Amino acid sequence: MSTLKAVRGTRDLLPPETDLWNRVEATARAVFARYGFGEIRTPIFEATELFARGVGEETDIVSKEMYTWEDRARAASEKAQSLTLRPENTAGVVRAYIEHKLGDTGNLQKLFYIGPQFRRERPQRGRYRQFWQIGVEVLGPVSSGAESPIRDAEVLEMLASLLDELGIRNWQLQLNSVGSSTDRPRYIAALREALAPVKHLMCEDNQRRAETNPLRVLDSKDPNDQELINNLPKIADFLDEASTAHFAQVREALDACGVPYTVNPRLVRGLDYYTRTTFEFTVPDGQGLGTQNALLGGGRYDGLSEMLGGPRAPGIGFAIGEDRLILTLQAQSAETTTTKLDAYIAPLGIPQNAAALALARELRRAGLSVEVGDGSFRVKKSFEAADKVARHIVLLGEDEVSTGILTVKTFATGEQVKVDKSTLASHLRT
Ligand code: AMP
Repeated sequence: MSTLKAVRGTRDLLPPETDLWNRVEATARAVFARYGFGEIRTPIFEATELFARGVGEETDIVSKEMYTWEDRARAASEKAQSLTLRPENTAGVVRAYIEHKLGDTGNLQKLFYIGPQFRRERPQRGRYRQFWQIGVEVLGPVSSGAESPIRDAEVLEMLASLLDELGIRNWQLQLNSVGSSTDRPRYIAALREALAPVKHLMCEDNQRRAETNPLRVLDSKDPNDQELINNLPKIADFLDEASTAHFAQVREALDACGVPYTVNPRLVRGLDYYTRTTFEFTVPDGQGLGTQNALLGGGRYDGLSEMLGGPRAPGIGFAIGEDRLILTLQAQSAETTTTKLDAYIAPLGIPQNAAALALARELRRAGLSVEVGDGSFRVKKSFEAADKVARHIVLLGEDEVSTGILTVKTFATGEQVKVDKSTLASHLRT
């Protein structure tokens, strides 16, 4: 029989690597709490229409990367409908914001999520078909201050603090403004005009993009086209007064906080809903990500709620690629910290198995991490097993059970002592 494997583009996360995942998530939760964020958990699948409307029919994500199926009706009261595994979480969060009328509170909503997303991309290092995102959305009615540039700067400053706290080194913040929904069409028209005489010199992909979605040309990594692209008009020259002032205030607040950034006029990003501030945090090549060097991306989406049939609710958010964050942490730190358990309890014979488990229960309830061996093991085997996973071994033979005086060896020092059961927990902690 052929063996079954995880599907292409998906993978199992195993211990001890999952320790790192949990540390990253715990740090993110702690940082988000300091900024007043609450967690939102939306369903992993949604109506296909949500992404078609929210992310945009013309995007790569919607046009070719979604896992979509026709869900059959199971009862006369149900209708068959097209469903999709979420390729990103912003549309789901905004749908929930509308559905639960969170705007009626009048308050700014500060939400975060952690969970898997699904895109049928060509798998490579740092790019998977099921991947994890840690994301944040700040949105609300205009009266809540949701549109203010201080929100953008605060989100960026929070990201800088989070990456620092996680120990990510050499991150770079690439920042741009893509303007309002009226600035963009003027810019796209100018791009088309500038591309017309030169596009035939570009790669096939860019020739196609120049027709279908000229903004995408700016994303191109094709080495031969870079000079042509750098000479194209810049969005900054097409921003109206309000967008220009908004962007200036975002930068001013970042400067005041001492958060470094680079203005990258080519940063337009892959999703249609972005307005004004857009950004990416990248790490230099050779630090774990190869060509997929964007750790995270985000931006402002002032018209998204209306696009989904909701009230006006300007907002800004980001999604960190958690898989890429982990790859970067692994590449940047040579240390492989496997945390050892406090103790390994070795029953010296099968009759001591029950007492061993009872002792483990006591210690675990006292907050210690403990593994229990088996009375059928030879002593040598118990020592070897214990040395691999724990800092101490506690020997439990017939005498130990009857007297309550236990033999404890500390592997780091080689020291072996007798310890009374009543002081065992505190001995193991030191
Ligand atoms: P996006 O939702 O496309 O703005 O992406 C935000 C971040 O999610 C990116 O910067 C990546 O770090 C991560 N990401 C996007 N697609 C993938 C993928 N297929 N595999 C792993 N990470 C991804």
